[in-house]
Amino acid sequence: MARPAVFLDRDGTIIDDVGYVGSPDQVQLLPGAAEGIRRLREAGYLAVIVSNQSGVARGLFDEAALREVHARVEALLQAEGAALDGAYYCPYLDGPEAIVPRFAKASDLRKPAPGMILQAASELGIDRAASWMIGDSERDVQAGERAGCRTVLIASNGAAEAGARFGATYVANDLNAAADLVLGGAARARSSPTASAPVPATHPEGQLLEVSQALSRIENQLDRMSRRDRQDDFSFLRLAATLVQMFAILAGLWGGAAMLADEPGAAATPRLALACFLQLVALSGFVLDRNR
Ligand SMILES: [Mg+2]
Repeated sequence: MARPAVFLDRDGTIIDDVGYVGSPDQVQLLPGAAEGIRRLREAGYLAVIVSNQSGVARGLFDEAALREVHARVEALLQAEGAALDGAYYCPYLDGPEAIVPRFAKASDLRKPAPGMILQAASELGIDRAASWMIGDSERDVQAGERAGCRTVLIASNGAAEAGARFGATYVANDLNAAADLVLGGAARARSSPTASAPVPATHPEGQLLEVSQALSRIENQLDRMSRRDRQDDFSFLRLAATLVQMFAILAGLWGGAAMLADEPGAAATPRLALACFLQLVALSGFVLDRNR
């Protein structure tokens, strides 16, 4: 039977993102990373790295260095009681920065494409719909979404801190908090498939998220209501009736002027008749508008 997994970005999610990590010395686990992975695995999730490593195509380090860095990540995780079930790296890059010919190409593996997740899912027997993609960038969220997974955005970069969610299912401060959300979500799905509570209420960050989502729902509702009110205030019928009323007054004045000037040919009568007619139309308009 296919198993659920957490697909994990590496840099900025599991280890500190110092930019193109090409040496084991640069590897430093982020707070909560090992604990989050350990808890997720204990709950039955496979932990699989899916990481863009364009540093290879850029000529900054080679595949051997990439393997060394990976070995260091695994060793540090194991030292803290965590482990990985798989790791997929995309060394490719399309564009002028790619200077190593073998890796200079567009690839379906490179996030935001879902290639690495699809490959991992098929090779490791993973149920994608029951799985999660956890990462710190928009690309990670997009790749997870395209693979049919739910997503957690790790808020360790500027965009996430500025409130950008990129459509992620949840946002968390670190991998351990992400594990809370994933495990809470799984528990909710078991207890009630229609439950809509976004995060466990016992989790302080979750409560904050819930409150802010409720506030934003109320704000939207108020906005819709005030827009509806404004629409109610404005009536085309009343506008048209007002215009006709103005023409009625003008026609009356025109007829009155003809009477006062005593123009020949009885010009006043049709003008006054027109004024009466327009006045009737305007009044009908106002009455109809009122009874709407
Ligand atoms: Mg990252």
